[in-house]
This record gives sequence, structure tokens and C-alpha cells, in this order.
Amino acid sequence: MSTLITNIGELVTNAPVGDPAPGGPGKYPGEYPGEFTAITGAAVVIDGGRIAWTGAAGRAPAADDIVDARGRAVLPGYVDSHAHLVFAGERGAEFAARMAGQPYTAGGIVSTVAATRAASDVTLRAGLRRLADEMLRQGTTTLECKSGYGLTVRDEARSLMLAAEITPEVTFLGAHVVPPEYSRDPAGYLDLVCGKMLDACAPHARWIDVFCEEGAFGADEATAVLAAGRARGLLPRVHANQLGPGPGVRVAVQAGAASADHCTHLTSADVDLLASSGTVATLLPGVEFSCRQPYPDARRLLGAGVTVAIATDCNPGSCFTSSMALCVALAVREMGMTTQEAVWSATAGGAIALRRADVGHLGVGARADLVMLDAPSHTYLAYRPGVPLTAAVWREGRMVAARPEILAR
Ligand SMILES: [Zn+2]
Repeated sequence: MSTLITNIGELVTNAPVGDPAPGGPGKYPGEYPGEFTAITGAAVVIDGGRIAWTGAAGRAPAADDIVDARGRAVLPGYVDSHAHLVFAGERGAEFAARMAGQPYTAGGIVSTVAATRAASDVTLRAGLRRLADEMLRQGTTTLECKSGYGLTVRDEARSLMLAAEITPEVTFLGAHVVPPEYSRDPAGYLDLVCGKMLDACAPHARWIDVFCEEGAFGADEATAVLAAGRARGLLPRVHANQLGPGPGVRVAVQAGAASADHCTHLTSADVDLLASSGTVATLLPGVEFSCRQPYPDARRLLGAGVTVAIATDCNPGSCFTSSMALCVALAVREMGMTTQEAVWSATAGGAIALRRADVGHLGVGARADLVMLDAPSHTYLAYRPGVPLTAAVWREGRMVAARPEILAR
């Protein structure tokens, strides 16, 4: 069954607009999203879970069902390429203490590790699904989800199995921090991560990640983790240069990582490395907001030609927002991005950071993941920060969330 969404005030496509390309609907282009592209007075046709047509509303073909957008904007669904959703407990008191002046350190992770290990599968699954649903209702139609709060063979493997229930973008992060029981034997923990733990986890993950940071894992350790993962068919991504300058970006680029995430403290050499590589810089402005730290310099990265993504880093410690809209607003207000750049990075940029050609854009053949805003343009995400603007969400062509006034059409 096909659906026509018409009278769209602004349709952001991140892809060429027009009639089906040779090959026709149902075959996605096989290329990553293009540059920011938007048209006014537009329509889109969804068929079989894919984008079948985009263009001027007056030229739209007929469809089985019609949704009148009444001038609202329609964007590709957000692609949140960095989230930690499998955990138990919460750290509200730690946040309050931080706002009262205590600094954030990587060590806070261990309190979540203890709660996660003690939790049942039922508890972990319920928390994970609640957050994933929360994201979907806000317009996030693709999300990445990491392990990293189990840090035992059993708890990492079950974290990944749970994550795989909600997304194919599952990341093994056994190298998040060295757990307390290995504090005197970090080399022994590294052996475990690269050995038995990887054996148990690789079948359930697509990606491998490492927290390359002072207090977590150094350059040689991170490189070893990524190499071991690669040998088991996992693709690398890295937590890099969050808390201070360090080797994370270099490790990521040398490993051919899809993305170096955080990129808050970069040298000129780091920026040059990113610019000359296929590694995306994924910026996580919710972390700087929630840790009251200086934001990454997005303009410097964009000026150097680096591909920039924006993600939430939703986790119980350093940033507990699931709102891509907030991250877009922060990127515009605090990181100097234009509204077009920020929306592109939250959609197309995230798709490239996950090496996905089928999401992050609305080119003919792309997965029909869309978010309709209760606003006439994408600009409102930053212009009206903190206001719930999501009017409706489609994932794979199916309307999965909608305000009553959209349904009563
Ligand atoms: Zn993270």
C-alpha cells in the first residue's frame, strides 16, 4: 500500500529530488546521503517501506492513502549513531554533584556496572525498550547501541543480545573501563576483552568500540582491542579525545574506524588526520551540556572538510538525553553550526558514521523513515529549543507515532 504525504511546508531530502532513478523504487541508491537539500511546497510518496517519489506537491502521483501535512516540515528520521542504552540504575545524584562543582571522570561508569551486573534480563530489557521507544517517538528511526556496563563475559554478551533485539547497529564496548576486580591487573582485563569476551560477543555485534582516554585505555591498548575485533569481523569505532587531548583520533583513523566520537579536544594534526580519512567526527554536544564542559569546535572540523555527525551519547552518566532535537539546537547555538549543517549531521552524518546508505536521506529507494515537525521548517529545531515539535514519525513506511490531529485526517 502506498501513502502520499502532501502539502509539506519544507521537505528535507539530503538527496536529489525527483522521479525514480533508473532501477526504480525499492532499490536504494547504494550511495551515502548527499548534501543538505530541501524543497518547499513538496510531497513524498512511500511504497513498500521505501521512498517511491519526492517532488513538488502539484506533480505528486496518486497513492492509496493521503496524509495532509498542512504546511509542516518533513525530515529524514534522525540517525543516533552513539548511545549506551543497556544499563540499570541511574546517576541523578552524580549529575547534581557535578552541577555543584565536582568534575566528571571516567570512573563514574563503575557504579552503573555494579547495578547492571545485579539486574535481571527482564529489568535490563524493560529499561532498554523504554529508552528506544522514547527515541522513536521523538523521531529517531535508526539508533546504535553499545554494551559496556557488564564488563564480564556473561554480562557483555547478554547486553549485546538485548541490544540486538532493538537494532542491528550493535557495538561491543567491553573496553569501556577496567572493572574494579581487574584494577591491579589491567593487562589481564585487556586479554579477557580481546579473548574470551570477544569470542562470546562477536556473534552478537556489528561494531567494536574502545574508550581511548586517560583513566580508560591508552593508544596501544585501544589499537589491540580494535585489531582483535577486526579479526573477528567487527568494524571499529572509537571514543576519542573527550576529556582532554590524546591519541584517540589517531588510533581511530589508523584503524580505519567509521567514526571517532566526541572529538572535543583536537590538535591541528587530529583535524588533518580526520580530513584526510574516511573517519567521521561524531560530536556529542549533550555531553558537554550535561558535564558543563567546553563544546567541540564544529566550525574548525567543517572548515577542514571533515564529515561531521551529531548523536546523543544517551547514557546514565555523562549525558542522559535521548533528544536529537536538543543536540541539533546545541550544535547550532554552542558549536557554531548552521541549522542546515546540524540537521544534516543528525540525519545523513549519522548514517555515514554507521556506514548506512539506506537511511539519513529521502532519496528514491531509501528506507521510508521520516519525522514530521509541528513547524514549517527544520530551523525550528534550534529556533524553538526544548519544545516538543515531533508531530508524526514513520519507520520503514509505517506510522509509528503521531499526534491525534495528524491521525484525524
Ligand atoms: Zn559514549
